[in-house]
Amino acid sequence: MGCRECTDKSDLLRVVLERGSLIPDLRGRLPGRGAYLHPVPACLEQAVRRRAFNRAFRGPGPFDLAELREHVERTAQATP
Ligand SMILES: [Zn+2]
Repeated sequence: MGCRECTDKSDLLRVVLERGSLIPDLRGRLPGRGAYLHPVPACLEQAVRRRAFNRAFRGPGPFDLAELREHVERTAQATP
């Protein structure tokens, strides 16, 4: 997803939609349409604000962000 605030030091995280929930595809192997996101909270919130997931998955939502948000926050804490 387009993001001008991040440098390319962070790897993009693939996200898939599974039964209404956005799931981080940690091994890059989950089937279906994917969206790509920097695994940082600012980018996640920006994507939500811009309804980027609605565009990526062609649905009106709302999508359940709990698992994705938890993963992103955990990743952010692990990275100095
Ligand atoms: Zn970003």
